[in-house]
Amino acid sequence: MKSVKLILGIAAAAFMTFGSTAIAQTKSNAHANAHKQLLASNASAKEQIRLIDQSAFIDLIDEPEPEIDIYTEGWNSKSVNPFNAASVPNSAVIDVTNYVIPHFGRITSNYGYRARFGRMHKGIDIGIKMNDTIRAAFDGKVRLTNYEARGYGNYVIIRHPNGLETVYGHLNKHLVKPDQVVKAGDPIGLGGSTGRSTGPHLHFETRYMGYAINPSAIFDFANHTTHTDTYTFSKQTYTQPRNFAPSKNEKTSNPYAVGEAKSVYTVKKGDTLSSIAKSYGISTTTLRKLNNLSASAPIKVGQSLKLK
Ligand SMILES: [Zn+2]
Repeated sequence: MKSVKLILGIAAAAFMTFGSTAIAQTKSNAHANAHKQLLASNASAKEQIRLIDQSAFIDLIDEPEPEIDIYTEGWNSKSVNPFNAASVPNSAVIDVTNYVIPHFGRITSNYGYRARFGRMHKGIDIGIKMNDTIRAAFDGKVRLTNYEARGYGNYVIIRHPNGLETVYGHLNKHLVKPDQVVKAGDPIGLGGSTGRSTGPHLHFETRYMGYAINPSAIFDFANHTTHTDTYTFSKQTYTQPRNFAPSKNEKTSNPYAVGEAKSVYTVKKGDTLSSIAKSYGISTTTLRKLNNLSASAPIKVGQSLKLK
């Protein structure tokens, strides 16, 4: 980051002195030459302003967010946004029982409208270490993998049978290909800082037919679980995202607090020992040992499992 700042600083300084240098030169030249030179310098100055603005913006705002909405701008011809706002139902109940948190880390940036920048942050940012494994949040099929230099960097979009799509941005590397079928918890990429990012983090979005839902309204990141087994999407809520209050969907008073990981898990429908182990970043063997389970012991819905 320091070297980028330095380069930007040099670029900015070069630009600032550029105008006066050009004017000094033209004074000693014929009017026609001066005119030409001014035109030339204007052209290149414009170019420079454009370049400097884009890069400096990333630096100055210290804001690792994509400015390009992958569902509109930057969408390639093969993957046109299939969602038409008019076809989105007013309300939908989404089954989120079979989930895996894509990565356990501190939430470094929440979903929501950012007045400072006049736009929405359509996902949440989770702190990672370079090349940490990023996992599919639900079963599904990879719709798209792409690279967007000024946006999401390397990103993956997965479509899920529950109607959601999840987006994973700033990856160092994709580990999946379009049309690949994935299970919840499968590694889909290595975390990174590609695209519009100032440091390693995962930008994670949950979308319903193009509408970016607050991931924290579905997932309880602090407790490595979901708030409820179903999430009720309301179109009305999301047509005015600036006024959207995620707390309406939260069970806890501070859903963003990342505290101690929970120590007991209650088995839900569809869970397997391995999916639970994956969710909590422990091995199946450890999970069995903690709970005195033999290698073939089944687990039951409602059963409590010690996690540490
Ligand atoms: Zn983000």
